[in-house]
Amino acid sequence: MSDIAANITLLKHQIPSSVKLVAVSKTKTVSDILKAYNAGQRYFGENRVQELLNKKDLLPRDIEWHLIGHLQSNKIKFIVPFIKMIQSVDSYKLLATINSEASKISRVVDCLLQIHIATEETKFGFSMNEFSEMSESQEYMDMKFVKICGVMGMATFTSNTDQVRKEFSYLADCFNSLKNRYFPEKSHFKEISMGMSGDYEIALKEGSTIVRIGSLIFGERNKIQ
Ligand SMILES: *Cc1c(COP(=O)(O)O)cnc(C)c1O
Repeated sequence: MSDIAANITLLKHQIPSSVKLVAVSKTKTVSDILKAYNAGQRYFGENRVQELLNKKDLLPRDIEWHLIGHLQSNKIKFIVPFIKMIQSVDSYKLLATINSEASKISRVVDCLLQIHIATEETKFGFSMNEFSEMSESQEYMDMKFVKICGVMGMATFTSNTDQVRKEFSYLADCFNSLKNRYFPEKSHFKEISMGMSGDYEIALKEGSTIVRIGSLIFGERNKIQ
């Protein structure tokens, strides 16, 4: 068994079967992704559109692709035909553009709202206020080609586990208040995507439903992404 296959098997033992494991394959080769695929992994996450497009055509069609990185409006049209979920919807403008591109091909795209939970300034995301304003606009109510399935967040990169726990707990609170206020009858609004290689165990305790794991599966990345 390859290391990659072994890593996946190990992780699957640690993650409840109700939680989706998205293997983050950014910077990794098609051959590494195939090793994970052959170990049964079907959900993969990439953060750059061009890299995703380059790899996807060389890989099996039944892979479910998740976009997890900041997305530029002009790239949306390239992924809308096949992407399973855009986890990194970090502005109203982006959501509106996804809706308009998806409407052209009549495909409904699953989305997560990326919420800013870390103390670092660089991480993209919605604030709760922004979402409240957006949800009251008519344009938002008319969006038929985006399905908001939940929230996504990245904790601060720190060894302070208490801080990480608080940030994840805040994300779970955001999820619950959005659910109660805006999606009470929407059974598809159910996802909390949180937890990476260094903090997924904390995320699981705080109620994560999707974990996004790269280096624990594929090994360290040599480029900083
Ligand atoms: C790179 C990345 C991950 C995975 O990071 P690891 O620490 O390698 O598990 C998860 N989520 C996002 C948004 C990422 O960019």
